[in-house]
Amino acid sequence: MLEVHILTLFPEAIKAYIGTSILGRAQADGKLAIHLVDFRQFSTDRHRTVDDRPFGGGPGMVLKAEPIFTAVEQVEQNHGPCRKILLTPAGQVLNQDFAADFSTEERLLLLCGRYEGFDERIRQGLEWTEISLGDFVLSGGEIAALAVLESAARLVPGILGHEESAKQDSFAKPGLLDHPHFTRPAVFRGMTVPEVLLSGDHQAVEVWRAEQARKRTLKRRPDILPDSN
Ligand code: SAM
Repeated sequence: MLEVHILTLFPEAIKAYIGTSILGRAQADGKLAIHLVDFRQFSTDRHRTVDDRPFGGGPGMVLKAEPIFTAVEQVEQNHGPCRKILLTPAGQVLNQDFAADFSTEERLLLLCGRYEGFDERIRQGLEWTEISLGDFVLSGGEIAALAVLESAARLVPGILGHEESAKQDSFAKPGLLDHPHFTRPAVFRGMTVPEVLLSGDHQAVEVWRAEQARKRTLKRRPDILPDSN
């Protein structure tokens, strides 16, 4: 069972996605619990302000420390300690090792930024693993939070329908992309399925898949092969 708290100013942007497919089913089966926390509700002023102008000037607004500190403290008081993940382009890039690590936690807290990002004291005063989706800038952390959530949830035992499929995915075996897949029809617009996949010889299929995975990795991602460093 994985419990996830997502702190966001736009819970409705996340709601539809987490109710669908594997994440929706995992919640219905009691293997995953997702709580959306709108941290605006922890702002104490009349207008429920969560952002303010940056000290020193400059464009844009900065997320204030107080509502976020209060929201985090409230979640941990009510539910227990969380592995806290801050979504930011300045973080370490999300990969399968992080997903595997997060999937073993009892409770995750994901903090989505907006505007120019966070008051630095949110970083200084709380303990975070800072995660980025890559070298580009999104308008908010929600898509990054969903990527962390889904990549971790897939690895929680019992969440995927076919346990084997996560083990065969790209990056599951260190340093390999997934092999090519085919389904019916056997011929589509003149393109055929490799003979071996139609042969019924399971051992030959396994050998072919392993070889294809290695070839594909060598061609597209030689950097991840174990002997590349
Ligand atoms: N001024 C910030 C900077 O340049 O690093 C960018 C702020 S961005 C417009 C607003 C929020 O989107 C960030 O606080 C973060 O939560 C999220 N975000 C943007 N790009 C991201 C990325 N590559 N990975 C993870 N989160 C990202």
